[in-house]
Amino acid sequence: MGSARMVGPALNPIVVLGATGSIGHQTLDVAVRLDRKVVALASGSLSDEIVDLADRYPDASIAVAHTPEGPVDAAIERRIEFGSEAVTALARLPGTTVVNGIVGAAGLESSLAALESGNRLALANKESLLTGGSLVLSALESGSGELIPVDSEHSAISQCLEGESLEEIRRVILTASGGPFHSRPDVDLDEVSVADALAHPTWDMGKRISIDSATLMNKAFEVIEAHFLFSLDYDQIDVVIHPGSFVHSLVEFIDGVVKAELGPPDMRKPIQRALTWPGRMPAPAEPIDLMGTALTFSAPDRERFPALDLGYEAGRRGENGPAVLNAADEVAVAAFLDRRIRFTEIVEVVEDALNAVPSAPISTLADALAADAHGRAAAAEAIARRASR
Ligand code: MG
Repeated sequence: MGSARMVGPALNPIVVLGATGSIGHQTLDVAVRLDRKVVALASGSLSDEIVDLADRYPDASIAVAHTPEGPVDAAIERRIEFGSEAVTALARLPGTTVVNGIVGAAGLESSLAALESGNRLALANKESLLTGGSLVLSALESGSGELIPVDSEHSAISQCLEGESLEEIRRVILTASGGPFHSRPDVDLDEVSVADALAHPTWDMGKRISIDSATLMNKAFEVIEAHFLFSLDYDQIDVVIHPGSFVHSLVEFIDGVVKAELGPPDMRKPIQRALTWPGRMPAPAEPIDLMGTALTFSAPDRERFPALDLGYEAGRRGENGPAVLNAADEVAVAAFLDRRIRFTEIVEVVEDALNAVPSAPISTLADALAADAHGRAAAAEAIARRASR
């Protein structure tokens, strides 16, 4: 039975960072189903939801990154630790599996803390690799921590690579749903509304990632993540449009064999994989019904969706390129959601920011955070220039 393998990190208590977000909700759902202990929860800001979670998990440590400005209820003050160091401290709790579902570059420090403490890092925070990929890799190499990707594409690739050797990979093929617009060439992208862009056809996700899926910027990020996670050259990473979202990615080997991981588009599956690896447990999601299912793949439209090539460019530039790409995109997406720029301007703003910020190496956490700040500032300037035109 597989249970013989269920030792060590596969049974570790769980720390959930970003507990009130989409990944956090689904992690808590999986943890309940697996009967796994949740020992700590963190969120970005104080909300009714994190207070409710504190009640629901009376033995768990609770941290909130942003200290509220006004007075805080005495009961909350006793129960919740405030400040980003309090969140990072949870990532250091020894012998835990840290699910990092933090949104934004704030997640990098917790990823490094988890790895430096020898914990298993179940990584859903893309910025850890985009903003500080080289730092995450060196923390991984120098310590006893483990990194298991939670992003569905990278979870798929890592499963296809089990028992394989990295030198025998010809290429990996990341699948993209294409978002709400790729399959609709009739849609004028200059005119799409926030509501249209948020309507993702297959995955139910947070707002930023839904917009990033609609521009294909999310896939650009995943190309860079794959580069860091699997030590691949950018030439070895391809993207195909697969509207069904049930082939989560593929790996092609030097002998022409292609392996893929298939399943319903449900994030609880890669989350569970990260919590139970190397074992498997009964899944919360129904398996896909293969009967009558067509495998449809097509090439991405790189002209209509320039984010993809911009991502490759930032990745190949290396150093602070991915950090600036990500930070500028976060600012641009926020501006689109506020209706300050058009959908097509998101990528234009990111490109302006990449051109404005000179290359600089990322050797320390401070370098990574500076690159993030430069990317944000450059995007804000690009947006302001557009507004004044
Ligand atoms: Mg993904």
